[in-house]
Amino acid sequence: MAVELFDTRTPLEPLREEIRDAIERVLDSERYILGPEVSAFEAEFAGYCGAAHGVGVANGTDAITIALRAMGVGEGDEVVVPSFTFYASAEAIPPTGATPVFCDIDPDTYCVTAETVRAALTPRTKAVIAVHLFGNLAPVAEIAALGVPVLEDAAQAAGSTSAAGRPGSLGSAATFSFFPSKNLGCYGDGGMITTSEEGIAERARTLRFHGSHDKVTYEQIGYNSRLDELQAAILRVQLPHLDAWSDGRRAAGRHYAEAGLGELVKLPKPARGAQPAWHLYVVAHPDVKRLESALAGAEIGCKAYYRTPIHRQSAMRAWGAGVELAGTEQAARTHLAIPMSPVLTREQVDEVVAAVER
Ligand SMILES: *Cc1c(COP(=O)(O)O)cnc(C)c1O
Repeated sequence: MAVELFDTRTPLEPLREEIRDAIERVLDSERYILGPEVSAFEAEFAGYCGAAHGVGVANGTDAITIALRAMGVGEGDEVVVPSFTFYASAEAIPPTGATPVFCDIDPDTYCVTAETVRAALTPRTKAVIAVHLFGNLAPVAEIAALGVPVLEDAAQAAGSTSAAGRPGSLGSAATFSFFPSKNLGCYGDGGMITTSEEGIAERARTLRFHGSHDKVTYEQIGYNSRLDELQAAILRVQLPHLDAWSDGRRAAGRHYAEAGLGELVKLPKPARGAQPAWHLYVVAHPDVKRLESALAGAEIGCKAYYRTPIHRQSAMRAWGAGVELAGTEQAARTHLAIPMSPVLTREQVDEVVAAVER
């Protein structure tokens, strides 16, 4: 029996009718950009995260650039970012005028730690991007205690939670992506910035509309980067189901552990106090190439997402040359995502574990 790497279709099937109604409502309204659906979803999503403000933008990459600028990052500044993450986490920095400074991760959690961040700080550090990778949670409070503002890249962590609160409420600001494969995904591109700092929210709102707060005077070079009404209306239907979907992801993670997968490969370790809504379930093994081809042969979906870390990508050579990150290299060499979704069944988990064992 084949098992897909992820399944975004099945959880959305029961919502088809409701989503159709939401789309119809927007078509009838004839408001497509920055209307009532976006305002309502901004308030609902920020409320879900435990933040005071939400600012809808076009995608999760723009969200990072705009949030950094709203936090005051600009020319001559440095922004610390992990190298083991999706490329966009670092790509979003140079457009602000700042330079990325790559830091290491803990290969057990795949996230940055206060120690790995501290090693990358300089007097020019203006912000740290703490990526909640794979739905695990970076220790935001410990990093902020180093005295540097933290932007959470929570693109993979919608639905995760921790003793300290949800991602989106832990740093100075946070960014989300609603790309279709994310834990909360729309039918196109979409993104959000959340923050409880009024000034950051205000500046982000201005930046997403061409650097203008009143649409007639232009104080800054900004962006045309908005979440649209159709996507916001669709996301409003989905948001009430995010917790149940996240419980499904956590249950699948438990099933992997109960089925003995941890005796065969290294399992991802939840960060202290975290209950990750696993976006990807990423295991590690020294002979991962063999595992990868065996799983592919058994029609078990699997994928190495970040085999070449960002600091070694050619576009980043100006900032990545000479950087050495041991934890990053270990994770890059040994990681493999295996099937994970809100609806992954125990039978499918057993199938995957049996294939790994073979
Ligand atoms: C998906 C993702 C992004 C970018 O989001 P887009 O909406 O695709 O622009 C940024 N950071 C991380 C960690 C991501 O997974």
